[in-house]
Amino acid sequence: MTTECLFCRIAAGEAPADVLFEDRDVVAFHDIRPVAPTHVLVIPRKHITSLATSEPDDREILGKVMLGVHRTAHLLDLVEPGFRTIVNSGRGAGQTVFHLHVHVMSGRAWTWP
Ligand code: AMP
Ligand code: ZN
Repeated sequence: MTTECLFCRIAAGEAPADVLFEDRDVVAFHDIRPVAPTHVLVIPRKHITSLATSEPDDREILGKVMLGVHRTAHLLDLVEPGFRTIVNSGRGAGQTVFHLHVHVMSGRAWTWP
């Protein structure tokens, strides 16, 4: 827990968030500036800065974050419409909060690449 980290504070219940679900290791909450009708962030409670700084010992927690994406998709009925997941790693990729989070977004059209 880093007190300067917004997402650590959300995970600790010390900063407000519209929480979808939480368990021992993972918290999912609605993005405050959604870019899609559904836009949820799934985070580990553990402070991991990004995928670039995650370590082999984080394998279990990283798996749990991905299962948090699965749970989000089923809770919000996103399986059929489909959903996009994005993890920005580093400022150059658009990361603005330096606590690992997976964006889960649905309800609009997407382009690729
Ligand atoms: P990224 O740009 O990938 O680091 O994503 C950070 C995301 O966190 C952005 O989509 C923000 O809108 C979102 N965000 C920032 N502050 C909050 C907050 N207090 N509650 C919920 N989402 C937030
Ligand atoms: Zn943090």
